[in-house]
Amino acid sequence: MAGAKTKVKKESREFPILVYPEKCAGCMTCQVMCSIRNLGELNPLKSYIRVNRDHGIRTTSLEFTEDCTWCGYCARFCNYGALVLKKLAKTENEGEEEK
Ligand code: SF4
Ligand code: SF4
Repeated sequence: MAGAKTKVKKESREFPILVYPEKCAGCMTCQVMCSIRNLGELNPLKSYIRVNRDHGIRTTSLEFTEDCTWCGYCARFCNYGALVLKKLAKTENEGEEEK
């Protein structure tokens, strides 16, 4: 049936993540966590985020597939600042402005 696989981006009308591929360490935690949350299995190859590496040294791009639901879950687990939830970035900036 056409469109049966279409996912609804229901949690946010704005993409919730700031993306900084130059900071990515290629740890693949985001892919693992996305697959667990959205597919119920530990399988980074089926994740809705793709970490593209250049000869294993640098991450050249971070791409979100069409199936990405914009849940923002993967960004919660990025310890390198490559994926940052916009709402957390906003809170941190507001905190700095108050100092
Ligand atoms: S985006 Fe973050 S969690 Fe994902 S591979 Fe890069 S460093 Fe790891
Ligand atoms: S925003 Fe959600 S669905 Fe999209 S890649 Fe991250 S965890 Fe997966």
